[in-house]
Amino acid sequence: MKNSEFLKLSALDLVEGYKKGDFTVSDVIETALEYIEVNERNLNALITPLYEEARSRSWMLDAALARGEELGSLFGVPVVVKDNITVDGVRTTCGSRMLENWISPYSAHVVECLERAGAVIIGKANMDEFAMGSSTEFSAFGPALNPWDLSRVPGGSSGGSAASVAAGYAPIALGSDTGGSIRQPAAFCGVYGLKPTYGLVSRFGLIAFASSLDQIGPFARSLKDVAAILQVISEPDARDATCTRKERPNYAEFLNVTSLEGFKVGYLAGYESLEIDDEIKRAISQTIEICKESGAEIVEVDLPISTRYGLPCYYTIAPAEASSNLARFDGVQYGFSVAADDLKELYLKSRGSGFGPEVKRRILIGTFVLGSSRYDAYYLQAQKVRQLIIREFNAAFSKADVLITPATPTLPFKRGEKLTDPVKAYMADLFTIPVNLAGLPALSMRASMSQSGLPVGVQLIGKKFGEGDILKAASVIEQVVGPAATALGGDRK
Ligand code: GLN
Repeated sequence: MKNSEFLKLSALDLVEGYKKGDFTVSDVIETALEYIEVNERNLNALITPLYEEARSRSWMLDAALARGEELGSLFGVPVVVKDNITVDGVRTTCGSRMLENWISPYSAHVVECLERAGAVIIGKANMDEFAMGSSTEFSAFGPALNPWDLSRVPGGSSGGSAASVAAGYAPIALGSDTGGSIRQPAAFCGVYGLKPTYGLVSRFGLIAFASSLDQIGPFARSLKDVAAILQVISEPDARDATCTRKERPNYAEFLNVTSLEGFKVGYLAGYESLEIDDEIKRAISQTIEICKESGAEIVEVDLPISTRYGLPCYYTIAPAEASSNLARFDGVQYGFSVAADDLKELYLKSRGSGFGPEVKRRILIGTFVLGSSRYDAYYLQAQKVRQLIIREFNAAFSKADVLITPATPTLPFKRGEKLTDPVKAYMADLFTIPVNLAGLPALSMRASMSQSGLPVGVQLIGKKFGEGDILKAASVIEQVVGPAATALGGDRK
């Protein structure tokens, strides 16, 4: 096997290869690191590559393999972690100048889980500052690019994680999703991105954006890897009070089904007339057709409140929570600090130059909607709309097991295209945001490639803790459209 072939293998194929003695962990890690070094000049998918750490861990794992030790389910698998998830002893910047030099003294629960399973963290991924954005252009470390077309954005805010998996840096990565930050970049980069049910995966060690919406989830190029990494990171954890103790199913068991007999797939009534790209509409129809041919019953569902009021509801609640979560970055306790004569000036100067423009906008919106004279009209009203959205989804799920919707209204957009118009950028999350408001799980996956060679994604939404249903339907679709491809060097434009 040529070394560059390692970059195309799935996580589980790598583990198989190590077990059979086809190659060693250091062979694979070395290949990945060399490839990253060359490609990072273009992609900028990583804020902090962990060359030395990954190298020494690969030697340690090879030694364990030679001693015949029992191997974890992600043994020797390279993984990229979004830079708002902490790794002990490594800086966690959140894509912000505010935390540029902040070294985390502890690891997130999901990172501990990955390491226990034998994974090798090879880098911390680029992201929009504090996970606010949908293009990774709001990173204080420069934008990440889309590996399929370097003139386009990879999506965001977990754009660096999605681009890393699409480019072949690693078969799997972690991101976070508050309003679409896993699913939108996954769609733009043509890989799988799963936002688990709110409460399935512990957020211990995730720097909070909007606590009632944030979830950590995986990126991968195949469904079997999605199931494998989800199994690992969804281990219950008492350090996040919202993390359920409910027993997790064996996610791999939902894969490789060939029939959807007795299964109901819902689609959005009138999606053909929505303002979405024609190629995305076509991908939705094809995906529904695949489900139908596999025996699923296809039903129409209506989500008028979610599609109409989801965005304003989110852009009230999320900034409100963010303005309170980000109050801790005051120049005193954490990170960036500017010397000043008095405390107020210290706050103003540190926050004024530590935060970038989008984060400031969110703090301003959040502070505005929470103001005592505006609270009822904005924040409270948004909470009521959120309840209506939850009810609307409940009604849809009384008719269907899984819903198929667009992941995004458009294909990956050009760099700079939405930078000066925030509302236009917020529209990128039209279909992903209601899912967070309702706390549901959803997967975005590549359904086809556009005529211009860009990935076209669709979204599968499940009931609470219905990750298994999503995997089942997605597995039938994957068998027809194939797993995600790697945009290795020459494959891209
Ligand atoms: N793009 C959305 C925002 O800017 C979602 C971000 C996210 O999910 N973290 O808020």
